Amino acid sequence: MKRTVLFQILVLTQLAVCAQRDCRTAEYRTQIMDKYPGVAQRAAAIEAFTKSLGQARNYITNGTSAVGVSSGPIMIPVVVHVLYNNSSQNISDAQVHAQIDILNQDYQRLNADTVKTAPEFRPVAASCGFRFELARIDTLGYATTGIVRRHTGISAFDINDHIKFSSMGGDDAWDRDRYLNIWVGNLTGGILGYSSVVGGPSANDGVVIAYTAFGTGGTSQAPFNKGRTATHEIGHWLNLIHTWGDSDCGDDLVSDTPPQQTSDRGCPSGVVLSCNNAPLGNMYANFMDFTNDECMNLFTAGQRDRMQALFAPGGERYPLLSSNVLTATPLASPTSATVQSDTGGDPVLVLYPNPATSQVTVRLTGSTVLGTSVEIYNQVGLKVMTASLTQETTDLNISSLTRGIYFLKVSDGKSGHVSRFLKM
Ligand SMILES: [Zn+2]
Repeated sequence: MKRTVLFQILVLTQLAVCAQRDCRTAEYRTQIMDKYPGVAQRAAAIEAFTKSLGQARNYITNGTSAVGVSSGPIMIPVVVHVLYNNSSQNISDAQVHAQIDILNQDYQRLNADTVKTAPEFRPVAASCGFRFELARIDTLGYATTGIVRRHTGISAFDINDHIKFSSMGGDDAWDRDRYLNIWVGNLTGGILGYSSVVGGPSANDGVVIAYTAFGTGGTSQAPFNKGRTATHEIGHWLNLIHTWGDSDCGDDLVSDTPPQQTSDRGCPSGVVLSCNNAPLGNMYANFMDFTNDECMNLFTAGQRDRMQALFAPGGERYPLLSSNVLTATPLASPTSATVQSDTGGDPVLVLYPNPATSQVTVRLTGSTVLGTSVEIYNQVGLKVMTASLTQETTDLNISSLTRGIYFLKVSDGKSGHVSRFLKM
């Protein structure tokens, strides 16, 4: 009996340890600062710029257009890169859409659980004025759902950013001046997510979220199944620091969050005192603390101002305000390409679909000879793939190719034919 109880306690302790929020942004930040010496200087310049704008300004409701908008939210176009090693990690569109909905609630204080914000903190709780939408135009100008799916050979990603590069089993970032990049995949060691450093390299810009902590429903797992990991990490992407300033009673550079000694975990209640912060205590329901999804529910006005400062003219994310990927008309999609024989007779090959994501089908027609070789070249003329056409219809796996225009050359030794296709 005693042993059973002891065993149960052990199991429960183990579960509690596993179920703690694990954001690696601070550790990642140190790593990037070490790797890229210029980032610290750039981050300091952005900090000085933020300070120069001051706090407690609401650019939106004041209508003074310091950020270029006089009314309405700041629009953030989003691309979600889903990296999956097995089919269960290939999360549904519905799960992605659920996450976008949560971001829109949390960043405009439309979340249903604002009623849980402690009365003493309600005066500083704020709508941050951001609206998130999946991109409608991709980097090449074609229509997109804003969701990119890639199979990967990597079973679990670390904070080394491999998830952000096709050459390392991930998927390349889309232009950070036009999109917020969100990568979703399996992360090692219980990591829930991390964000890039404001002022860091553009190819690494965006947030990474574990597929078990993204959106609601589907693969999301309690206690991180209410989409708050993305809310938290995008807070970092918008220049917020953890409420304890990542050090003992540290400074988060926001004046209306009380100092606190360290992170709060799980789901605290009542007043939790630290760092002489009586009578308010820790603001453990802040999205930038480490509590469970269902126990966090607010950003403050000071945090809003810090985030919005990035969108003032000259700010780090000001170019995003000019992104047209939510509004522009997409280019007409290329359709299946048909190549005529040199004599102008019957087509010799048909290629589809176009654009293609993971595979293209090459169909030989007419008198084209089986055994013909096929070569794929990228836009700078580098050969990236070869294959032999051993049957009339051949499927080529192109999932390892990066996005862009490719040229497929079919040659039977006497004559060659070239067709162009788009890899999405
Ligand atoms: Zn964090």
